[in-house]
Amino acid sequence: MKIQFLGTAGGRTSVSKQLRTSGGIYIETSGKKLYLDPGPGALIHSRKNNIPIETLDAILLSHVHQDHTNDINTMIDAWSEGGKNIKGTLIGSISAIDGFEDIEKIVLNYHKNHVKKIIAMVENDSTDIGQVHITATKTQHSDPKGIGFIIKGEYKILSYIGDGCYFEGLEEYHKNSDILIVNNIFPRSRTDADKKIGYHMDTYGTLKLINKIRPELVILQHFAQTILAIGPENEAKWLEEQSGVKVLAAKDFEIFEF
Ligand SMILES: [Zn+2]
Ligand SMILES: [Zn+2]
Repeated sequence: MKIQFLGTAGGRTSVSKQLRTSGGIYIETSGKKLYLDPGPGALIHSRKNNIPIETLDAILLSHVHQDHTNDINTMIDAWSEGGKNIKGTLIGSISAIDGFEDIEKIVLNYHKNHVKKIIAMVENDSTDIGQVHITATKTQHSDPKGIGFIIKGEYKILSYIGDGCYFEGLEEYHKNSDILIVNNIFPRSRTDADKKIGYHMDTYGTLKLINKIRPELVILQHFAQTILAIGPENEAKWLEEQSGVKVLAAKDFEIFEF
């Protein structure tokens, strides 16, 4: 399994100022190529990092927010070679694919016609891309239809919690994960995060989660300005000391191979 972060920024300020890049995550597992959450800069950073867009097997969208979906239509253009070579599977939350109540969909009809298969998921829905089994997980976030993903390849189970705060039972969805990617947007010092902003993961929430799951490795990403100011590595180190679980803070364009 190979994971490359095409960006580790999260939230509006960090993304709009490009304090970190925000292009999403490229994953290779069990012979399949997946692209997760193509935020602003996905196309440009994919090209700069030689991500094989034209031969992707699937693109996954966790929820509607721009830091996760901004480049989806332009990525579909690249994937389908301008609509001339339609292929692959687009998997996403109902909100991102079709819209939900007053939330507008992100994927335009024109671009939907340039993907071979589209699967809109709610929690516990699953599908197979070759040997890779993908299941949608529950989140508590300001997109009420937002999801996370369990990506189960032949050897490793990768879990991506998506955006959202810790809630009782989140660990049940991700309990078998070997590698857990957490959108740890806020640091410990941002104690007002839940009250003021709501439904976002902070370092204390991550600690609760990893103490219950105890995966092989936790990778933090999706950093807001507040956590970048104090250093995500310091939060990762504290989590590792508290839990005894290996925790790393991802850097832009960093590659992990297992
Ligand atoms: Zn986000
Ligand atoms: Zn979000």
